[in-house]
Amino acid sequence: MSMSEVYFIEAKEGALSLEKQLETLLEKVGVGDLKGVTALKMHMGEQNNKTFIKPLYVREIVAVLKKHGGDPFVTDTTTIYKAKRYTAMDYYRTAFAHGFLPSYLGCPVIIADGLRDDGVRVNEKVEIAKSIFESDAMLVISHATGHGASSFGGAIKNVAMGCVTKKTKIYQHEVTQPVYHADLCNQCDKCREACKHDAISEDHEIIRENCIGCGSCIAVCETGALKSAEGESTNLQKRLAEVAFAVLRNLPYDKSIFVNFLINITPFCDCSEFEPEYMCQDIGVLASKDIVAVDQATIDMIGKHLFKGDPTVQMREAHRLGLGELEYEIRKV
Ligand code: SF4
Ligand code: SF4
Repeated sequence: MSMSEVYFIEAKEGALSLEKQLETLLEKVGVGDLKGVTALKMHMGEQNNKTFIKPLYVREIVAVLKKHGGDPFVTDTTTIYKAKRYTAMDYYRTAFAHGFLPSYLGCPVIIADGLRDDGVRVNEKVEIAKSIFESDAMLVISHATGHGASSFGGAIKNVAMGCVTKKTKIYQHEVTQPVYHADLCNQCDKCREACKHDAISEDHEIIRENCIGCGSCIAVCETGALKSAEGESTNLQKRLAEVAFAVLRNLPYDKSIFVNFLINITPFCDCSEFEPEYMCQDIGVLASKDIVAVDQATIDMIGKHLFKGDPTVQMREAHRLGLGELEYEIRKV
């Protein structure tokens, strides 16, 4: 059985000074292979989110990439839920408010699906966001977190949900559409008020073609009349693996590095606007050329038992598809 290398820097004294070790970490993992225009794919945080990966670290990664011949830009795509990253213009405003300013980072910030959700279709289901497709290489920075629907969010989720257009995000979220139980409904209408997508009819049935599976209605339904579909987490994780595979195997380049930050580890992803609570202490940063190995190592270090449900479905599925190895060796830097 083959084993992948995963490099690790430990967070000592919390996450203090981690940025000073990023250069060594990236050199070990082979940052010199990333030449030309390099997409630095990350989540720059929903408005009011406090735990997204801070520009301080990203600035350091940008400097290292430039030193080794890369020409990086920081990037992400717009969301399917209607908040402050729903359009490219809103995302730029949110990113800049969070400190992701080109003048600070030392590189451009480009919303990869552009002003009009531009993508390149690579199969029947998957469209890769245009600027990511047109790059020469990619470095994926992921904040390791729990997730309400997919149990875990790391590199696989970052690529699957983050490198694609809205249509492909909706394809993945189809499996998270709620189920309505009329016998439990008290007609309070809170679900209709919470839904920003006109996806609940007057008689509280889900309008499937409008629903993006965001779960906002489930969160406000006090009687249990709206519930998650059975097997939601497993089905979503399998779609994440399927789309991550389609993205990484259809990019016109195979030069990618995956860097997972295991700091400020929250039960929800950086789309969340909740006041943060933490699943565990800061651990450090992992880097690998193997997306499966880096996520598996992340789960193992945090502790599988701390996640809601089974967070490893996505790794096992990605491995089954041939995207990487579940076995890995940690190389401490
Ligand atoms: S029906 Fe519920 S899950 Fe679907 S879009 Fe509306 S709030 Fe989100
Ligand atoms: S929130 Fe729940 S109980 Fe209230 S109308 Fe919607 S489905 Fe019915």
